[in-house]
Amino acid sequence: MAEIRVFPLSCAVQNYSWGKLGLESEVAKLLSSGDPLVQIQPDRPYAELWMGAHPRGDAIIRDNRIPQKTLGQWIADNPVCLGTKVKDTFQGQLPFLFKVLSVDTALSIQAHPNKELAAKLHAQFPEHYPDANHKPEMAIALTPFEGLCGFRPVEEIVSFLQNVPELRALIGEVAVEQLERSGSDDPRGVSAALRVCFTRLMKSEKKFFVDQLNMLVKRISQEEEGKDTSGSNGELLLRLHSQYPGDIGCFTIYFLNLVKLEPGEAMFLGANEPHAYLRGDCVECMACSDNTVRAGLTPKFIDVLTLCEMLNYTPAPSSSKIFPAVQSQLDPNVYVYDPPVPDFAIMRIEIPASIKLYLISAIDSASILLVIQGTAVGTSTAAASEMSLCRGSVLFISANESISLHLSSPDGMLLFRACCLL
Ligand SMILES: [Zn+2]
Repeated sequence: MAEIRVFPLSCAVQNYSWGKLGLESEVAKLLSSGDPLVQIQPDRPYAELWMGAHPRGDAIIRDNRIPQKTLGQWIADNPVCLGTKVKDTFQGQLPFLFKVLSVDTALSIQAHPNKELAAKLHAQFPEHYPDANHKPEMAIALTPFEGLCGFRPVEEIVSFLQNVPELRALIGEVAVEQLERSGSDDPRGVSAALRVCFTRLMKSEKKFFVDQLNMLVKRISQEEEGKDTSGSNGELLLRLHSQYPGDIGCFTIYFLNLVKLEPGEAMFLGANEPHAYLRGDCVECMACSDNTVRAGLTPKFIDVLTLCEMLNYTPAPSSSKIFPAVQSQLDPNVYVYDPPVPDFAIMRIEIPASIKLYLISAIDSASILLVIQGTAVGTSTAAASEMSLCRGSVLFISANESISLHLSSPDGMLLFRACCLL
């Protein structure tokens, strides 16, 4: 029998408290569809599905002819499967972690350090920064998805500072006026003024900001029914405050863009970009790392000084945060999201109903394939036998191996494939 280099995976679930409950969660839906033996508990959060070889969630190999139990063990014994370039560049490790997220309540306000800062933070505070790697991330919406990302254009921030006196009080008149006076012909002056305002907000004293937040919440809640509170971003403020009462992170909605993604739209989070996922389901891919600097909307360790120091204070409109997918010139059914980092790329594969036989092409990188919609029988010279694929199936594909899909669903298929395009 030929060596098996393409095989199905059972993936690890993380039941973090911010996840959607039971079958509300896309993670739970994919799990139960992919494996009918999985029991979904209606009152349990299903936050993340981890498709990769991370030690805290190494995928289980679903092929008992393979002696290794997990993907991480198998890759350690078969590093050639990564592809020569990937193997050499990333020291024999799969460089990315592929995930599905189902977000019910907001995740923390955070940013991820670049490689240089990650190495420094890890050396100084290994208990909070567990490795020396950077952690660029990309999220692609599966359902309408909302997040905070990057600093808003200054006009929007200034307008909130004028409409929300509680926010203005926290920052102080001198810093606010400096931001109001900063002109668009001086981007460095704008960034400097923005840094001062945001840092003053995040470092304000607990009693002071809790009081101001309570006043603001009270004021917005008492507005007449039906009155427009968009000038103070009222709806979002009340929602975040109900999730994280008394948390300084609630005020960051006045500084950061609210980005709304439709299914298939993506946002890329490079180093030092402030962000928070608010709600919705997405696929996510990231470099293998746990380095996150948090500053609000979380009960976890927060490091306000480091966060305020490291951030990219370049204002830009919300629309600029949507990362474009490019249709492949080789295959019009493939859209590639290729961020400006070497660690990963994602392909969205939309097979129309008219196609009954489709080739998942060989690439010079190990990849992980997730079926979101549709059914097919997959065959490969590198697989032990036919693989029946349905919503929720996850396959590992070694570099330079292909799979033929014999489609059996009438509506085509939707697949996501994470890989490394060096
Ligand atoms: Zn993040």
